[in-house]
Amino acid sequence: MSDLNDLYGDVILEHYKRPRTFKLIPDATHKAAGANPLCGDHIQVFLKMDGEKIADIGFMGNGCAISRAAASIMTQELIGKTRAEAEAVRAKYQAMVTREAGKPWEGGDLGKLEIFAGVAEFPVRVKCATLAWHALEAALKGKGETVSTE
Ligand code: ZN
Repeated sequence: MSDLNDLYGDVILEHYKRPRTFKLIPDATHKAAGANPLCGDHIQVFLKMDGEKIADIGFMGNGCAISRAAASIMTQELIGKTRAEAEAVRAKYQAMVTREAGKPWEGGDLGKLEIFAGVAEFPVRVKCATLAWHALEAALKGKGETVSTE
């Protein structure tokens, strides 16, 4: 069992303090909000789609280090990707953070997102790490509503 402090690595803390894409996109074509009542995290995701491509993406909201860093890194990783590519990354990321604790992640390359692989050891943190991704999914489906992890 790893220490919770290991989970808050430098990259996560850096993204928490200075999220790269923390912005509202006024002419967003898709948006949705996510709430994780268990932890008090609220994340809004904004997308500007150019056809099938994510031309711009940003997020706003408050939450713990994991939820904000996850949103920050998610938006950085997805900009320029197509809807189908984003969905494939989302599914793989979800599989990584919900895999059986103690098992190494062997499900494929997730680049920078692999810093969240340790979240699988802390089930209560999985909702924090996936909140922005749930909002992304809702935004892409055009629901425009608040999704809750509860
Ligand atoms: Zn949280």
